[in-house]
Amino acid sequence: MDLRAIEDVLFPGIDVDLERLVVSPDLLVVEAAARGKSPRCPSCATLGKRVHSSYWRTLGERPAIGRRLAIRLRVRRFFCDRKRCGRLTFVEQVEGLSERYRRSSIGLKGWLRAVAMELGGRAGERLCRALHLRAGRTRLLELLEVPEVAARAPRVLGVDEFAFRRGRTYGTVLVDIEAGTVVDVLPDRTSETFAAWLREHPGAAIVCRDRATAYTKAVKEAAPKAIEVADRWHLLQNLGRAVEKTCQQHRACLRKQADQDEPPQAPAVVLPLPVLPWTPIIERTRERYAGVHRLVERDWTVSAIARHLQLDRKTVRRFRDTPLDELLASAKAATSSSRSCPTCTPASPPESPADDASSRRSANAATRAATRPSPPTCADCTRGPWNRSAPTFPAPGASPPGSCAPATR
Ligand SMILES: [Zn+2]
Repeated sequence: MDLRAIEDVLFPGIDVDLERLVVSPDLLVVEAAARGKSPRCPSCATLGKRVHSSYWRTLGERPAIGRRLAIRLRVRRFFCDRKRCGRLTFVEQVEGLSERYRRSSIGLKGWLRAVAMELGGRAGERLCRALHLRAGRTRLLELLEVPEVAARAPRVLGVDEFAFRRGRTYGTVLVDIEAGTVVDVLPDRTSETFAAWLREHPGAAIVCRDRATAYTKAVKEAAPKAIEVADRWHLLQNLGRAVEKTCQQHRACLRKQADQDEPPQAPAVVLPLPVLPWTPIIERTRERYAGVHRLVERDWTVSAIARHLQLDRKTVRRFRDTPLDELLASAKAATSSSRSCPTCTPASPPESPADDASSRRSANAATRAATRPSPPTCADCTRGPWNRSAPTFPAPGASPPGSCAPATR
């Protein structure tokens, strides 16, 4: 491929002459010379006719075939022949390729600006490194330009706060609701700043805002004729809170009405208890449940049952008031997190997250029981140290020995 063909590929429609191409493993260097018409002075627009000198300038360009590309461009410096112009000389620029004071081509600048627009500084810098583009985060952010702000506010103006740094610094963003575009960004969220902006940019007929009092104060001051409306998100939030508040106030009558409207219930279907694998905690739960309910049926008080079974009274109440399948489900959850025996490891995890204190007391009681001679097992409630092969409870109606009689009723 000759230089002419390469020139057509690298510089389509650009007035340069390709003079030389230097290829290295990771870099392509293209040497070219400007050949355009005589340029005009940037100060007085006088056509430059006399060449002062020429020199080489280096421009970064978009990579090609996986290699970085640099352009060495020979440009001419011209005299400005207008006597009243303060500029003596000026340098020509190649349209579509170079700009004053810039060391990257126009095409590369467009790429970097697009990266900065989509990714910002740090993420854009990482992508540029992967794409063989030399650009730090500062350079990327410098390429972003502040858009022009129209002299008049849009007809439907949206206003909301946003965080420069969450919890510390907040600003205000103004949006054209109908066009769906950002109009301007204010440095804070005070009513004074927003009111000043409204005075400088009149024309807002409808202001769509959140529930912040600062914005409504600014609208009343600077645009009193504008109609204030709540935005969709806050409207739904207001509606949700109002419904919730109303339901809370009328909870009693709603429940009463619901009970009246409730169709007659079908007879409850009693499902068999799930078959759980044997674990110490599940076995202990079954034994405690049976022991507590056996004594409850005999009209023992909670305190008496607690003393007799060496349990906390809260635990006794829980076993008295909670269905067995629910207790077993809780025990199963505890089993998954602990497979240790509660008797031989007193510091084992509790059988349920909500019963830490009672389990610690049970573990301590088990420790005390393990360090003293085992008491004879009570025939009435099988009280005694925890044992996998603990005997089952006697049949209902068995006569209770006098030793198990409760102290108080
Ligand atoms: Zn001039």
